Amino acid sequence: MDRLPAIPNGETGVDFDAIVIGAGVSGIYSLYRLRELGFKVRVFETGTDVGGTWYWNRYPGARFDSESWTYGYSFSPELLEEWDWEEHFAGQPETLRYLNHVVDKFDLRRDIQFKSRVAAAHYHEDTRSWQLTLEDGRRYTTRFLVTASGILSAPTMPLIPGVESFRGQSCHTHYWPKTPVKFEGKRVAVIGTGATAIQAITEIAKTVGHLTVFQRTAQWAAPLHNGKISKDEMDRIRANYPEIFARCQETYGCFIHATDPRSALEVTPEEREAFWEKLYSEPGFGIWMGNFRDILIDRQANALISDFIAHKIRQRVNDPVVAEKLVPKNHGFGTRRVPLESGYYEVYNQPNVELVDINQTPIERVTTTGIKTSDREYEFDIIIYATGFDAVTGSYDRIDIRGINGVRLKEKWKDGPKTYLGILIDGFPNLAMVMGPHAGLGNFPRAAEFSADWVTGLIRFAHERGLTRIEATAAGVADWTDHVIACSEGLLANEIDSWMTGVNRNVEGKNVRRIMRYSGGHPKFRERCEAVVADGYRELTLA
Ligand SMILES: Cc1cc2nc3c(=O)[nH]c(=O)nc-3n(C[C@H](O)[C@H](O)[C@H](O)COP(=O)(O)OP(=O)(O)OC[C@H]3O[C@@H](n4cnc5c(N)ncnc54)[C@H](O)[C@@H]3O)c2cc1C
Repeated sequence: MDRLPAIPNGETGVDFDAIVIGAGVSGIYSLYRLRELGFKVRVFETGTDVGGTWYWNRYPGARFDSESWTYGYSFSPELLEEWDWEEHFAGQPETLRYLNHVVDKFDLRRDIQFKSRVAAAHYHEDTRSWQLTLEDGRRYTTRFLVTASGILSAPTMPLIPGVESFRGQSCHTHYWPKTPVKFEGKRVAVIGTGATAIQAITEIAKTVGHLTVFQRTAQWAAPLHNGKISKDEMDRIRANYPEIFARCQETYGCFIHATDPRSALEVTPEEREAFWEKLYSEPGFGIWMGNFRDILIDRQANALISDFIAHKIRQRVNDPVVAEKLVPKNHGFGTRRVPLESGYYEVYNQPNVELVDINQTPIERVTTTGIKTSDREYEFDIIIYATGFDAVTGSYDRIDIRGINGVRLKEKWKDGPKTYLGILIDGFPNLAMVMGPHAGLGNFPRAAEFSADWVTGLIRFAHERGLTRIEATAAGVADWTDHVIACSEGLLANEIDSWMTGVNRNVEGKNVRRIMRYSGGHPKFRERCEAVVADGYRELTLA
């Protein structure tokens, strides 16, 4: 690859005022905001183009579960005016087109350097700057380092012997090939049954010769009810954008779905059933985010909604033995990320689809021709690994990030992330995370826009006062970390192994549950962040 010259900046002695890691939803918007400060900015991106999640995950059926018209950026009225969403829940190609449109519209591409994986980022106190080293050895310095490296961007492969020996085609859903994969007449295996697998399986089953699904953890999936958006409907959506975004600001997870204030236990069984039937028949995350207030914290309420969904699964799957395998037994509804589906359960009614429960017959190894379980050997043409991510902190762990005195971030976070508002870290001055661990989460762009606005607001504040060093205090980090832990108390999700509790059996050291997410809800998160600004950032050390 050509060696790009480092661009010296006469004023500051560093190559860039700010470097952003990642060109997904968060990085694209961070670049836009940082440029407004008149900064010299560069984005480093591993991929060959923009889009992040929507650049990488090209697997069949990839789409989001956020309503498209709540997922787009809200910052530009002109952008809202000119972009028409085609589907209520856009597929990956449409979202990637959208993000490319944004990048081109605001002429952002010229500051993004592709095929540039950041391998190391070291802070230098003497120059108050970060030195970044790319995988190929190129080095750059920057005053501010903004990480937008994603919470689901570090894919993991299962620790199964023999994976490299398979002679057919192997694909991880994250690294899906850019050219379409044909399934007609093929014997295909899918390992994994999370949200990604559920989308992929449903789509692949439409054309596959024979499909074998290897399941470790059954999921509580619910219908997506996607649909096309007509021109009239898009016009109505456009006219309602102010109300739509205002509503997203009010809800716990920045979705249009707001928690019902009632308890599942205070209504009659008939009312409860009718409400759940309604939610089950409606599009999107209402069944998860718009449900009774106690289904995710009260065991009895959770058992009732789990029974409701289990009944639906049993109704939809013809073979009672297969249906039973598909009903989760080790966690309640909503305590893991709820996958939304478009005919997933009916796939198992097809004669050419088989479900293998690997708790009963574990996979022993991948062979040259397929997969060997404790029970038998299967032959395949294609093996698909839908085995997810080293979530939330994985993209940070994969960079050698060192702060003051060479302290490694991975080491600091070995027992779980410790941050100030999910944005700053004591001992790591001038590093700001957009959508870092312990930040307010939710419908992503809604939360990412807020996060990037806050970060650039802080940098602007410092810059306007000639300050070149921003750091969280140790006390601030301890307070926020304690608060995040306190907020999560009582959530049934914390009793479950999942990426949301930092467990990934395919990653060394990730076998203990940790609090990875802030669960106080986005409105409270925003309130807290805004109070810090109103107080002139006095909680921080600025110099
Ligand atoms: C299949 C799937 C479905 C999803 N559905 C939804 C949904 O319905 N609603 C929702 O709100 N969210 C959803 N998400 C979450 C999704 O990740 C976010 O919506 C959003 O796209 C994240 O944007 P981001 O820019 O923060 O991170 P990403 O899109 O992950 O982008 C991070 C980028 O950083 C790059 N990067 C990482 N490390 C380095 C490095 N060391 N050097 C250089 N570049 C690096 C990566 O290559 C990547 O391109 C989904 C995620 C997945 C995987």
